[in-house]
Amino acid sequence: MKEDILQNLENINQRIINACKKAGRNPDEVQLLLATKTVSAERIQIALEKGYTLIAENKVQELKEKYENLKAIPHNNHFIGHLQTNKIKDILKYDVTCIQSVDRLDLAEKLHQKLLTENKTIEVLIQVNTSNEESKFGVDPENAIELIIQISKFSTLHIKGLMTIGLFSAETEKVRSCFKILKNLQEEIIQKDIPNVEMKELSMGMSGDMETAIEEGATIIRVGTAVFGTRTLPDTYYWDERNTEE
Ligand SMILES: *Cc1c(COP(=O)(O)O)cnc(C)c1O
Repeated sequence: MKEDILQNLENINQRIINACKKAGRNPDEVQLLLATKTVSAERIQIALEKGYTLIAENKVQELKEKYENLKAIPHNNHFIGHLQTNKIKDILKYDVTCIQSVDRLDLAEKLHQKLLTENKTIEVLIQVNTSNEESKFGVDPENAIELIIQISKFSTLHIKGLMTIGLFSAETEKVRSCFKILKNLQEEIIQKDIPNVEMKELSMGMSGDMETAIEEGATIIRVGTAVFGTRTLPDTYYWDERNTEE
């Protein structure tokens, strides 16, 4: 079990290196984030101890459950799931440094209000729905810039870039077009030079499509299955609007 995880991590590293070579990029530009939904704290620890310290959960409940067991090993927690406004209070208890899934103004506003009262700030990425699938979260590309302009006014939120989940398809070129949409949007936003908005990060690519994402400019890839094995819960449990926690 431990050996499997370590071997998988090595394989992912090699895949990053190969993809970067192909794309003419420096592997240091691509951070590996481990998507740890459904994975036990014990198994996450194996990766943390090996130095893979950027991890992310999809649900506040899971973040909470694993928090005590992971606390002893220094690491960096991002959040990549759909965030309900009624979970804001909770998420701020668990040292999340970046919420990658900010996709609507009311969420940003409530987050800002809460952060103000706690005298804290947080990094965020704006999640964009580049695949046009009804069931996926994220702001539509055509509304993204307006949303970012509005969110940029909240002093406690530091926008660091964009996040997307690519289309689930075996057709690489269709997946690639999602990543291109995100990259183009990033460039358009950089042009606008909006105060309090950085566009350094492009979080895109997962176990099945990380090479394509790296070729299109990903700076953070989010990998779960390829490190920890297949999950028992289907991803629709995490991604589908109809299945969100209340
Ligand atoms: C689960 C998840 C991932 C990782 O997916 P894998 O296919 O297991 O690598 C990446 N991003 C998000 C938002 C996820 O929920």
